[in-house]
Amino acid sequence: MEIYLDANATTPVLAQARAAALSVMADTFGNPSSIHGSGLRARALLDEVRAAARRVLGAPTGQLLFTSGATEGIQTAVLSALHALRQRRIAGETIPARVLYGATEHKAVPEALRHWNALLGLQLHIEAIPVGADGRHDLAWLSRHAPEAGLVCTMAANNETGVISDLDGIAAALAGSGALWLVDGVQALGKLPLHLAERRIDYAPFSGHKLYAPKGIGMLYVREGAPLTPLLMGGGQEGALRAGTENMAGIAALGAVLSALEAGGVFASPERLQAQRDRLAAALRDAFPGVVFNAPFESSLPTTLNFSVPGMSARMLLDLFDAAGLRMSGGSACSAARAQPSYVLEAMGLPAWQTESAVRLSFGAADSAGLIDEACARLQSCGEALRATCQSEGVQGADGPVELLTRFVVDGACCYIVADESSRRCVVIDPLPQLTDRLAQWIHCRQLELAAVLDTHSHGDHASSAQALRDALPASLGKCDAVDGLGWPRGVQALDLGGHRLLRMSVPGHTQDSTAYLLHDGLQQLRLAFVGDTVMPGALGRSDFEQSAPAAFGASLRALEQAVGPHTLLLPAHDYDNRFATTLSVECAAQPLLAAVLQGRLSDESFAMEKAALEQALAPTEYQTLACGARSECSLFDEQVELPSTELLAQMSAGPAPMLVDVREPFESRMGMAGGALDAQPVPLSTLINALPALTRLPAETPLVFVCRSGNRSAQAARALRRLGHAQAWSLAGGLALWPAQAGDVPGAEALAI
Ligand code: PLP
Repeated sequence: MEIYLDANATTPVLAQARAAALSVMADTFGNPSSIHGSGLRARALLDEVRAAARRVLGAPTGQLLFTSGATEGIQTAVLSALHALRQRRIAGETIPARVLYGATEHKAVPEALRHWNALLGLQLHIEAIPVGADGRHDLAWLSRHAPEAGLVCTMAANNETGVISDLDGIAAALAGSGALWLVDGVQALGKLPLHLAERRIDYAPFSGHKLYAPKGIGMLYVREGAPLTPLLMGGGQEGALRAGTENMAGIAALGAVLSALEAGGVFASPERLQAQRDRLAAALRDAFPGVVFNAPFESSLPTTLNFSVPGMSARMLLDLFDAAGLRMSGGSACSAARAQPSYVLEAMGLPAWQTESAVRLSFGAADSAGLIDEACARLQSCGEALRATCQSEGVQGADGPVELLTRFVVDGACCYIVADESSRRCVVIDPLPQLTDRLAQWIHCRQLELAAVLDTHSHGDHASSAQALRDALPASLGKCDAVDGLGWPRGVQALDLGGHRLLRMSVPGHTQDSTAYLLHDGLQQLRLAFVGDTVMPGALGRSDFEQSAPAAFGASLRALEQAVGPHTLLLPAHDYDNRFATTLSVECAAQPLLAAVLQGRLSDESFAMEKAALEQALAPTEYQTLACGARSECSLFDEQVELPSTELLAQMSAGPAPMLVDVREPFESRMGMAGGALDAQPVPLSTLINALPALTRLPAETPLVFVCRSGNRSAQAARALRRLGHAQAWSLAGGLALWPAQAGDVPGAEALAI
């Protein structure tokens, strides 16, 4: 059973609201503007719902218009306020030069302000009101600036954090200012008493679908006497203030919700909601001992929990929750390789790791106690799944063999653990400070001996966390007295891991101390190389830093080619586009500059000069790489790799049998999310590199179909395989979430020997 915990995004439609909408569509379907019986019945319903809305919002006076939703209400309010300012300016009056909005406002507000400000040619200065660490408006700032403002926009409660604004404090800060005041009431509807008419609020937009009505219906309150300019002109509906035949099904549904609010019994009381929040928070603390809540409970809606877990990306947590059937959302755009921080949490001044990894759990005021119990139980199972797979504290001696290579990624930066199954010794390459606890836990839990913690170079974007990791694992640290600046044991030629050996070679260029680590197997065969930022998928490391050695870069690349040849897998320290690994042959095709220097068509001096010219044009934030100058095939990133499930089914019954690979992580599989009848080989994305040699050797005509929960990670894997040369790499479109659940007739897929 799916447990929906994303109520701030939207809610399901209440049974009573569905019934009311259906009844309107079936019976009371008249047009409220018609004067015959059908129309009159519809009009009566419309009036009834408006009256209920006035009671619930505390708005006996002023306009209460039905709209399509809050976005429309916001447009109308902003247009009305700015148009009034414009009229005053046209009449020769000096108008206030500023418009203020809360820094954590929903994007609909600042975007509407910019749009209408430009369209009306006002050129007002649009400025964000800062918020404090608690997410509340800086009232002292507002008091200082309100006298110069023509319009002030502040939400009643925030959609990401649930932080409740101090509306009375804002009203006091606005005292003496002539500014119009817009309060976005979307997240407050039904959860906070707004007493609109008692306050000096001029505009308050609402959306029905945030409180159990369907999408497409909303309301806008406009205070008596506040300017109102219609956004839509036409047939004169809503007193000619909002034209267009009314959405009667939506209005009836909203009416049913408002009646439920008034009658009580459907929505939980604030006390009960707080108790439910406390139980969920306790379950989160139990499942993720380091969890941090990003907004103070005492001044937030009890239905919203915004949290971050150190060392765990929002993506990872959401994959885990989704596998457990818990639907939540990330505070940031998770599809990007580099997580986009939440602007709301940034405005609150929270540290970057919190703003980038935030997850929002928001439940509905109509959710039953049983549902919250089940959500808590599932959160606890999520914690157990993480502990059992060594992702968080708790267990020691986890089950299952250890993979040779495990990759961890934070914002495009890669860290690897090389673990030798026979000796139980491991090496960490390019540890990341954000991962210290997680890596330590992972190694401790698997009872591995830590042979070394190596950096491929002195990183420019972070101090090495190698010592912090060694300090976190004193008991697991193998005997090794002294190490050099990059962590290599002094006086040692090769790092012996039992069945594997690591050798190193100096490749100065990106930095003077850049080093590649070459991994050999027990037969002395070179398996792969960790090349740091010397060569990355689609890019070469920059060499314009103080610690760079640009003149040596060309010779280092040739030496690397001599050592590894064209086809050895190279694992980079940065992989912004999720390509996992590369080879010199793939990179020569992608990067003409690299090809030229390796093929001797460019002297080392000319290479250094051409590279420097490219780097000159780079923004300082493109810290490590040559960016799209060399990260040239950005177009490949958009290549369509999605295979619709119908085509997969067709392929499975005819044509060369596809190889199916499930890239979900073991902690997700433990939650028991079914993959339909798809018999896919599990190859978690974090250990995909182990399988790359076998996968790239597949016959060219064998379709290789990756699957995951939503199709996002499987698409990454498919693109990576295409880039490495397997043209028939695909990703199941929509992931297992859309795969036919009862595909009993799906034939089994070929087993993959890797
Ligand atoms: N304001 C807030 C606070 C919201 O949460 C939302 C929706 O997420 C909106 C405005 C926009 O609402 P709608 O998309 O329903 O028009």
